[in-house]
Amino acid sequence: TVSAKSIRKSFGSSVILNGIDLEVHKGEVVVIMGPSGSGKTTLLRSMNFLEMPDGGTIEICGSRVDCAERADRNQRRRIRDMRQKSAMVFQSFNLFPHMTALGNVMEGPISVRGMPRAEAETLGRRLLGRVHLSEKADAYPAKLSGGQKQRVAIARALAMAPEVILFDEPTSALDPALRDDVLETMRELAAEGMTMLIVTHEVRFAQDVADRIVFMQDGVVVVDAPPAQFFGDNPAPQVARFLARL
Ligand code: ATP
Repeated sequence: TVSAKSIRKSFGSSVILNGIDLEVHKGEVVVIMGPSGSGKTTLLRSMNFLEMPDGGTIEICGSRVDCAERADRNQRRRIRDMRQKSAMVFQSFNLFPHMTALGNVMEGPISVRGMPRAEAETLGRRLLGRVHLSEKADAYPAKLSGGQKQRVAIARALAMAPEVILFDEPTSALDPALRDDVLETMRELAAEGMTMLIVTHEVRFAQDVADRIVFMQDGVVVVDAPPAQFFGDNPAPQVARFLARL
């Protein structure tokens, strides 16, 4: 189980996260939706400590960080351990341009998990197969389509053997025609029982794949409901306004 409790984050005088509570149980797919600027990306980055929340706790499979605690050595170690339990997939892929697809997938296991090179290569090839890109192992990112780059990024996330994968609008930088392959890969991961927390505007995907939809606005969770209820006949007024604009 992954949980965020009472997460707060301000930038200067603007309060972006104003006490967020969120749980993702093992094997669940939770989709976060909400208007632009509602703090979705900031929440995801906070769960992976790319942003340090001002307060609240984050727990992943038994490890826990109290965000308000002083950043001493123990706290830094807890954060480092915690970051290894989650992997992030970004809107803009963030692949290393000077490494092949295989090199990108091998990098984390070698440098962070201390895996021997040969073992990392076997793992990397297996994971590229899992995202249907075995034939692109030796290609550099510049030679890949956006959808292929994103699938390499997903393989790279899987290579860290994370407890949860955090996806930040993984298809929004892609042409519509390229989105489906990425969404299909994500569906497969969900079917295999991967725990996933996904910020996305893909309504169809959310309806089909999510166990729950969390709707954020103005730094708080307004609705947390299964898709049938979220997209059902009696949406909360904020949700109705949001869906009408999509
Ligand atoms: P979108 O759907 O447009 O991506 P979002 O819900 O993901 O929006 P965030 O990206 O989390 O929203 O941003 C929430 C607010 O926090 C925005 O007003 C943004 O300008 C602000 N913000 C985000 N990061 C920073 C930062 N590093 N410094 C200052 N303000 C920031």
